[in-house]
Amino acid sequence: MKILVPVKRVVDYNVKVRVKSDGSGVETAGVKLSMNPFDEIAVEEAVRLKEQGIATEVVVVSLGLPACAETIRTALAMGADRGILVETDVELQPLAVAKLLKALVDREQPGLVIPGKQAIDDDMNATGQMLAALLGWPQGTFASKVAVQDGTVTVTREVDGGLETVALPLPAVITADLRLNEPRYASLPNIMKARKKPIETIKPADLGVDPTPRLTVLKVVEPPKRQAGKKVTSVAELVAKLRTEAKVI
Ligand code: AMP
Repeated sequence: MKILVPVKRVVDYNVKVRVKSDGSGVETAGVKLSMNPFDEIAVEEAVRLKEQGIATEVVVVSLGLPACAETIRTALAMGADRGILVETDVELQPLAVAKLLKALVDREQPGLVIPGKQAIDDDMNATGQMLAALLGWPQGTFASKVAVQDGTVTVTREVDGGLETVALPLPAVITADLRLNEPRYASLPNIMKARKKPIETIKPADLGVDPTPRLTVLKVVEPPKRQAGKKVTSVAELVAKLRTEAKVI
């Protein structure tokens, strides 16, 4: 079974994000960009399934600017076998990404697609669900445990009240949540090996998809600054303040 893992290049989670002065978006020039953390978890899970002999090949795909090839290389260094870069300078929104991924699924015929549960730049949490809908495949979102056996994947999902376990017939889409695993660091020899692994570059038109955005961003603003707290000198003063001043925001 082949596994397809979409990996998005996003502003690194350690970077303090700044809004562009014209309010049109977030500053990415001169900022460290890395693989979306949930996608690292997805790559790790796919590589573990290959190590267990359940998967035969792990294919990673990134959609966006040419620099996304670096993100693909990181996934190849973690153990993925080959990469596909769908190159475009159009700003991609989840529906366009899902359509492009569907076209790749039609071509590659994987048994599993494992996207991250959400990209930390736009927080959409939509692509995996849209892809499953376009494919007509079952979906196991927010996966914290995955087990594949006899044409079925059992997915433990993190839901509000606790954990829900669902069984899905393959092929299926699973979206990776934080507790699914702890991704490995790529070792130096594996980084060297990854340089020789193939990356195919194609354009959205090669997949017959028009990626033009459907949503317009009106404005991006910084969150309001937190106001300074107040120090109290006694429990009695704290209780009085909680009674008279504290508000539910
Ligand atoms: P989102 O729906 O935007 O929160 O993204 C959910 C997941 O879809 C991400 O964790 C990625 O696995 C995948 N994804 C979204 N955009 C891209 C992209 N441009 N390239 C590769 N994967 C993507």
